[in-house]
Amino acid sequence: MDFDLPEETRDLQDMVREFAAKEISPHAAGWSENEHFPTHIFTKLGELGLMGMLVPEEYGGAGSDTVSYVAVMEELGVADQSVASSWNAHSTIATLPLLAYGTEAQKQRWLAPLARGEAIGAFGLTEPDAGSDAAGIATTAHRADGGWLINGTKMFITNAGTDISQGVTLLAVTGRGED
Ligand SMILES: Cc1cc2nc3c(=O)[nH]c(=O)nc-3n(C[C@H](O)[C@H](O)[C@H](O)COP(=O)(O)OP(=O)(O)OC[C@H]3O[C@@H](n4cnc5c(N)ncnc54)[C@H](O)[C@@H]3O)c2cc1C
Repeated sequence: MDFDLPEETRDLQDMVREFAAKEISPHAAGWSENEHFPTHIFTKLGELGLMGMLVPEEYGGAGSDTVSYVAVMEELGVADQSVASSWNAHSTIATLPLLAYGTEAQKQRWLAPLARGEAIGAFGLTEPDAGSDAAGIATTAHRADGGWLINGTKMFITNAGTDISQGVTLLAVTGRGED
């Protein structure tokens, strides 16, 4: 079995390594020290076509394979674990539920800007009394006025509240008699 990365993936790896060495590594310690979120890095990752790697091209993504995705994550992680984990949260738990479960209109409205890197996505699971025990969440959602009324408290939400945050892909309980 050939364990070498395909040439296309190695080219991608080289491109991200070069970008990260120049744009991320020299600043990583300072961003952490000053609790600074480097929004511009995520905008640049979007320009490089890396903010929607696992999303099909028809929704603004790159339609990449998982090995290429992991190769990119390794390069970002070498430069800055925080950038890598924000990028990974955006690229997977924030974005992929929209791809898997969204309607066509929701995909066009919410998924495509995330995949193009115009916005960064967040994922809200954790609550003061539920983390590892994801089934124990108490936040509820029920239909109201043609939308959903969400009631609850979330915490530790990566990528929420940045200059390019679009919203939060949120876990909530439905079917508790109100909706
Ligand atoms: C860098 C970072 C980013 C995060 N980003 C997000 C985010 O974007 N969105 C989000 O929703 N959350 C996020 N979180 C929160 C994270 O998902 C939770 O912290 C995690 O799920 C653990 O939940 P908890 O903190 O409530 O700890 P608990 O679930 O209370 O766990 C506390 C301790 O008990 C142990 N434990 C728990 N259950 C069991 C069990 N059944 N048996 C044995 N031991 C057990 C755990 O291993 C742990 O050591 C983030 C956390 C970090 C550190």
